[in-house]
Amino acid sequence: MPSVYEYTRDELDELLVGEPRYRVEQVWHGLWSEGQVINEITTIPKALRSRLYEEFPTSIEVADDVQSDRGSTRKWVFRLHDGATVETVLMSYDDRVTVCVSSQAGCAMGCTFCATGQAGFTRNLSAGEVLEQVMFAARAAAPRRLSNVVFMGMGEPLANYKATVSAVRRLHEYKGLSARHLTVSTVGVAPAIERLAREGLPLTLAVSLHAANNDARNELVPLNRRYPLERLYEACVYWVATTSRRLSFEWALIDGVNDTDEAIDELARYAGPLRAHVNLIPLNPTPGFLVLGSSSRRVHEFRDGLEAHGINVTVRNTRGRSIDAACGQLANVTNAKRRSIPVRSA
Ligand code: SF4
Repeated sequence: MPSVYEYTRDELDELLVGEPRYRVEQVWHGLWSEGQVINEITTIPKALRSRLYEEFPTSIEVADDVQSDRGSTRKWVFRLHDGATVETVLMSYDDRVTVCVSSQAGCAMGCTFCATGQAGFTRNLSAGEVLEQVMFAARAAAPRRLSNVVFMGMGEPLANYKATVSAVRRLHEYKGLSARHLTVSTVGVAPAIERLAREGLPLTLAVSLHAANNDARNELVPLNRRYPLERLYEACVYWVATTSRRLSFEWALIDGVNDTDEAIDELARYAGPLRAHVNLIPLNPTPGFLVLGSSSRRVHEFRDGLEAHGINVTVRNTRGRSIDAACGQLANVTNAKRRSIPVRSA
């Protein structure tokens, strides 16, 4: 059954044909402004509520719900209508509340350091399934307002291009989120970056780079064999020229692999001319990739080295590590499984 969030405003009008216009307005307001599930929209008559809920039950169901960082990070495993599972992470900070959504169940990109990549690909999510994660998180965040949505959960968003663009467009048009509050990540699907640039959507693009020489990147991000750094660079130039927006490079720091002085120079040469912002993320441990994240001292040396080259850098907090909710750790690990997996810590 489709999610009610698959529908545009015009399509909802058609679904509710015969109802007065203000009813359509009430349903729309309940769904998008209040983030309510249909059977909670008490401004519409009970019979209509029941009928709509029967036709459009929620398409995600909580299979697991865990918290860390004293409740400021929360991760859900959601089961979809066909049994596929995805993960969503809500992070509350002093100045913002961010949800990290999944765009695919699993992922086919096979990045070696990533728990999702290690687990393989199940299927693409629909736009409605992505949006339901956002709305669920918005309800959980209340009374705080969900301010940011990042497409950095399970999956490669640009390998599920249509649903990603549709979800971003609706979050902008119906929820009022824009570039500073909407981020789409990619490991570098170059033609899709160029296509996305032409959509005219207000979003921030985050390229998961992790290495700035082809040998190292081929190992960490197998997609690099298809779109090597030179091709990715062309796409990044196109992005900046077409959108006039800065892009960011994500760099998961791995001890002895991509945290060397040579890596600093390579990254500076790559990011500098693009004026890209670099986000450094100490690698999170995953059971299938037995290396360590860089030490805190090395993370800061790496940052200082980049800054000496004039690169803008941020060291990201690692949120949710204890509940496998940090970057690269999402792999549908429920409480029961989590207890049985030995995890190396950095
Ligand atoms: S890092 Fe992203 S693209 Fe790579 S395997 Fe993990 S989820 Fe997929």
